[in-house]
Amino acid sequence: MAIAIRLTRAQLDQMIAHALEDAPIEACGLIAARNGVVTEIRRARNAENSPYRFSIDPLETRRHEEAIDAAGAELAGFYHSHTGSPPIPSPTDIRMMGPFFGPPFVHFVIGVADRANPEVRAWYIQDGQPIEQEFEILPG
Ligand SMILES: [Zn+2]
Repeated sequence: MAIAIRLTRAQLDQMIAHALEDAPIEACGLIAARNGVVTEIRRARNAENSPYRFSIDPLETRRHEEAIDAAGAELAGFYHSHTGSPPIPSPTDIRMMGPFFGPPFVHFVIGVADRANPEVRAWYIQDGQPIEQEFEILPG
């Protein structure tokens, strides 16, 4: 399997920390990258304020995209947490995100149902199906 994206342990930990802070509400955010290497994890507000679903206000998404642009990076994907289920995109995730953000956008799902053992998995949502992707953790 090809590596979809590369990020540092610290960036991975930022997403996990966000997920743990917001639990049981789902946390969400955007991922900026340059040449497939993550440059920034950007927290967003879950407009649903729900333990079962998330959405990001389109105006907020645009604000993040402008900041990512200004930094010379590009939007590479999204993350959100699952606070009571495994880190696999739900049918709702696929319905909400799949039509707009297929590959190459990576969807990280941060599983924190077991707070002591967060589980991070990465996905493409393609043709209505979650397809798991490999990611590489870089030193730093
Ligand atoms: Zn989800």
